[in-house]
Amino acid sequence: MITVLTGGTGGAKFVDGLRRILPPEELTIIVNTGDDHDWWGLYVSPDLDSITYVLAGILSPERGWGVRGDTFHCLQGMKDFGEPIWFSVGDRDLATHLLRTRLLSRGRTLTEATRIIAEKLGVRSLVLPMSDQRVETRIETPAGELSFEEYFVKRRYQDAVKNVRFAGASASKPAPGVLEAITKSDAVLIAPSNPTTSIGPILAVPGIRDALRETAARIVAVSPIIGNAAVSGPAASLMASQNLPASVAGIADSYAAFLDTLIVHDSDAETAQALSSISVEFVSTNILMRTPEDKVRIANSALACALPENAAVKLAS
Ligand code: GDP
Repeated sequence: MITVLTGGTGGAKFVDGLRRILPPEELTIIVNTGDDHDWWGLYVSPDLDSITYVLAGILSPERGWGVRGDTFHCLQGMKDFGEPIWFSVGDRDLATHLLRTRLLSRGRTLTEATRIIAEKLGVRSLVLPMSDQRVETRIETPAGELSFEEYFVKRRYQDAVKNVRFAGASASKPAPGVLEAITKSDAVLIAPSNPTTSIGPILAVPGIRDALRETAARIVAVSPIIGNAAVSGPAASLMASQNLPASVAGIADSYAAFLDTLIVHDSDAETAQALSSISVEFVSTNILMRTPEDKVRIANSALACALPENAAVKLAS
């Protein structure tokens, strides 16, 4: 079994590559839920949705979120009512939020709701929220504290970031199956996701870091940073708020306590070699994922670094 820790868009691209080469039942995905928020009274979990949609083969390739070819009639209706529409929700996407909210209101856990939605969409891999308890990523800015979606979507990550905290994390527990997935896997992969706000919340759930330190599986990450910039999005300024340089050194530092190998871009190979003080092995390749072929190539590179030669995992033919 292969376990992946992941967030949203960068993570979804990586998982898209893995799903094309692994039998679905070999893949377990542990997903950030720090971005979850209430929207129009519905429980929205953006990263669970992106990962579920990519595994179902229905993620919009243009937007990187939501359902391919979706319409936006409800959004228009809410606009006409004068309701806030800064967070876009497509009509088929809306059905996911309605079903999840209904399941939760009837006493199902987030893990159960995620499994039910995934099954109905034909997903055969295991998609797990990091926790069944609410853990909220809060971004401290000069304009005050914002939820992740207010910072990222509403205000388009223009605010300076003073700090990031994960409200509720210390009282949360890993969702059922999360620790087992990490400790019983043949390999653990960390997607090229934002280390501060996509992987950070997962690591903030008590017990997950220890499981990563203790697992016998090799742990391999793909860098979301090339040179001194994120491939997309605000990872650089979020990392700076944690005193981490926006570079492969900063990524290696974030995961140093448990990481075996960091896959970096070819242009960072020399920088990585100079980091001899860090006990992480560096492998370089082209880590830009623009086409399905790129995604498959990077997924193969990560598996080649992570799997012992005698691993039981079979690649799909
Ligand atoms: P989001 O921030 O919630 O959208 O989700 P993620 O944390 O999963 O994705 C954002 C991260 O993915 C950013 O830090 C990007 O730099 C990274 N990313 C996006 N596209 C690519 C890519 O093609 N290659 C690599 N290596 N990283 C990418």
